[in-house]
Amino acid sequence: MIQRKEKEIMCQGKSACLKYIEVAIALPVYNTFTYRVPENLSFFAKIGKRALVPFGRRRVTGYILGPSEDMDHGEIKLILDILDETPLFHSSMIPFFRWIADYYMYPIGEVIKNALPGGLNLYDFVDVAITEKGKNALIKDNLTPLQNEILCHLKLKSCGLKTLCAKLKSQIPNSLIQAMEKQNLIICKRELKGKRTGPKMERYVSMINPGISTDKLSAQKMQILHVLRDEGEISVKKLAEIIPTATRLIKPLEKAGYISIFNKRTYRDPFGESIIPDNPYNLTKEQEKAVSTVIDLLGKGFATCLLAGVTGSGKTEVYLQIAAEAIKRKISVLILVPEIVLISQMERRFRARFGDCVALLHSRLSAGEQYDQWMRIARQEVRIAIGARSALFAPFADMGIVIVDEEHDTSYKQETGLCYNARDLAIVRAKLMNGVALLGSATPSIQSYYNVKTKKFIELTLTKRVEKRPLPEITVVDLRKTRDVRGIGYFITSELYKALKQTLSRGEQTILFLNRRGFAGFPVCASCGASLTCKNCDISLTLHQKANAYKCHYCGYSLAGTSNCSKCGSSKIKLLGLGTEKVEEAVKHLFPDARVARLDRDTIGKKHAMLSILKGIKDHTTDILIGTQMVAKGHDFPNITLVGIICADLSLNFPDFRAGERTFQLLAQVSGRAGRGTVPGRVILQTYNPDHFSIEAAKNQDFKAFYNKEIVFRKALNYPPFSRIILLKISGKDIKKTQRYAMDVGDLCSELKNNNRFVKTVEILGPITAPLPRIAKHFRWQILIKGLSAEHLHGFVHQLLVKNRERISSRDVKMVIDVDPFFMM
Ligand code: ADP
Ligand code: ZN
Ligand code: ZN
Repeated sequence: MIQRKEKEIMCQGKSACLKYIEVAIALPVYNTFTYRVPENLSFFAKIGKRALVPFGRRRVTGYILGPSEDMDHGEIKLILDILDETPLFHSSMIPFFRWIADYYMYPIGEVIKNALPGGLNLYDFVDVAITEKGKNALIKDNLTPLQNEILCHLKLKSCGLKTLCAKLKSQIPNSLIQAMEKQNLIICKRELKGKRTGPKMERYVSMINPGISTDKLSAQKMQILHVLRDEGEISVKKLAEIIPTATRLIKPLEKAGYISIFNKRTYRDPFGESIIPDNPYNLTKEQEKAVSTVIDLLGKGFATCLLAGVTGSGKTEVYLQIAAEAIKRKISVLILVPEIVLISQMERRFRARFGDCVALLHSRLSAGEQYDQWMRIARQEVRIAIGARSALFAPFADMGIVIVDEEHDTSYKQETGLCYNARDLAIVRAKLMNGVALLGSATPSIQSYYNVKTKKFIELTLTKRVEKRPLPEITVVDLRKTRDVRGIGYFITSELYKALKQTLSRGEQTILFLNRRGFAGFPVCASCGASLTCKNCDISLTLHQKANAYKCHYCGYSLAGTSNCSKCGSSKIKLLGLGTEKVEEAVKHLFPDARVARLDRDTIGKKHAMLSILKGIKDHTTDILIGTQMVAKGHDFPNITLVGIICADLSLNFPDFRAGERTFQLLAQVSGRAGRGTVPGRVILQTYNPDHFSIEAAKNQDFKAFYNKEIVFRKALNYPPFSRIILLKISGKDIKKTQRYAMDVGDLCSELKNNNRFVKTVEILGPITAPLPRIAKHFRWQILIKGLSAEHLHGFVHQLLVKNRERISSRDVKMVIDVDPFFMM
């Protein structure tokens, strides 16, 4: 399907030779195409730039991958234009793009489109004006008609490229604009769209003349000099906190030659507080070992390490010290973090250590900011980039190490479009760049730990928290004994109530975790027993009390909170099930004086809402934080000493072979939020399955114990890591057509499986209706294909798709190929 050519690197630098080029087109086509570069564009055609090309009857954008050798068949079309001034990606990225396209069976042009940040559209950005030379050229008149027209127009008024095209009623090639700029006929100003953030400056003072006599100074002025003598330089803001009149007094002091006032660039964290530079900690023995092992590997080719360190063991410090060494050796460092909130935490610590040489990449930045950050990396102005999933594509030309923090986190898996797993691809990128991949987690994925066991990964461990802080003490409370309790008591047990009360009275903070939002998950008609379900999804609705509505968590459908039963019309709706909203109500009722906040998808709708909730914890204006898995992830708040897990079992019974793994990870992670400061933490874990090994292992914070049990199941049922899987997700609006289609594809699978190569190596489960059989009016089917190895499995699916392209294409039914799927519902 896609031929691999690894010769791009050779051709870099000689790209002036590009006469025939290989172009990837951003459309659902799997091949790349050969185009010819006309003479007048040959100077501009470079690997990594976009070209405008004819495709069928259309003109489309394509990405130049390199020279083409594939020139045998028929007429070769000419490219129409080159769209970029500078390449958008380095040629060393191309093998990576090809790998992704091949592995995830996704069009390579679309892979590249996915990889690039938004806001690269040149047409939006350029303001074009005529120069003196341009004006003279108009008089001398040795211009082409189009050049002439452009200059005439610009002489009247400078304008954007888009406007210019509109005014002249013709498509002006970008390359022409670039050529005219090169000849100095015009000048282009590049304005980026979107909000920009310039550097933040802060006023500082320092003493300049320590010897000078201070006899005649007022007491307050003396006091200022005193502070400066102790502190060295200090921000005016901070000085004013110590001596409130300082803002008024520093000017005269400067005039008299005692001190100097100057501006200094400062960094602020997302809470708006300035980031104070810090120094490396003295490492613990375990940290030291991890750091030195990785440093020894740097620059010596490809290797993957798994840093398994309990919560609070100082993994971030390990990353920081490795990064410091990498920078020293001029090796670039990429750090992936699963969630945008955690990026800010990571950013804070990296900026405190490395200041300006850190770039950030994530989707919350404006187009202009994204572009800036991207270009800073591409121009090698920074050596460190921190970002979420998509930062994987950061345009480093010389990346030496990729760090994947919280490698087990499911957020690394993209669930729409190109369904890639950023953790897996980080390893691939490291391999292609001959670098090191470092995965870190307190609860490593079964997959990664299996790779340690089979010697594919190098194991690094941190078994203890820093400063001899103990791991939290976990008490398991059996919910079966409160099954018949009425009212709040059935989910806030007496053990949890006591612990909450104690924690509040000590002035410490609590996290309460329940992995379901809303008020009640199972509204049921008290008259006829029917449950209230979504009309698009056949899934139970959840009551959201604050919004006074029943909502569907899958398609967003909502029904007024006053609705009657749709079956019998009764208005008596009984609310079964539990959600974070209900927990919040109960806690407020039990502890009316406590300051309570809730963190879940319902409360973070507004921009900055999430930050302000977290700030509440940080500043201790919140005593109890209730939330979904959002509270479980990586936060480091030292005053949280109690974690209450309301019901540990919610994710345990999902029809998914990773249900146990997820439950263990979630429980161990949320427990790890307790006792990160000087006061030891405790956890109350409420469950209906106290003997389940996922829960037992979480109780002991022992991922190896979990692994040893879980791996036996995986092996018995031949699930990953003992096999590879691809999930074919089939969906359509018409129930019959969708089923028919699923059956047809199923038949094709069975046929193909008879092939000698696949009889023993591939296993097919399905077609079956998906565990969630209808979402947003679409009926859903799935076929799970297991293979002994990636090679067999991918060979199988390739053949299935390529051989049967005609039979498989359908207008009414969609099929998504999910390679290494996570969400199996
Ligand atoms: P993890 O990521 O493993 O959960 P962190 O990296 O957040 O842990 O570290 C927990 C806390 O310990 C942080 O506040 C960090 O600054 C501190 N810390 C890390 N290493 C050391 C060390 N060697 N000595 C003292 N404190 C440390
Ligand atoms: Zn009813
Ligand atoms: Zn729905």
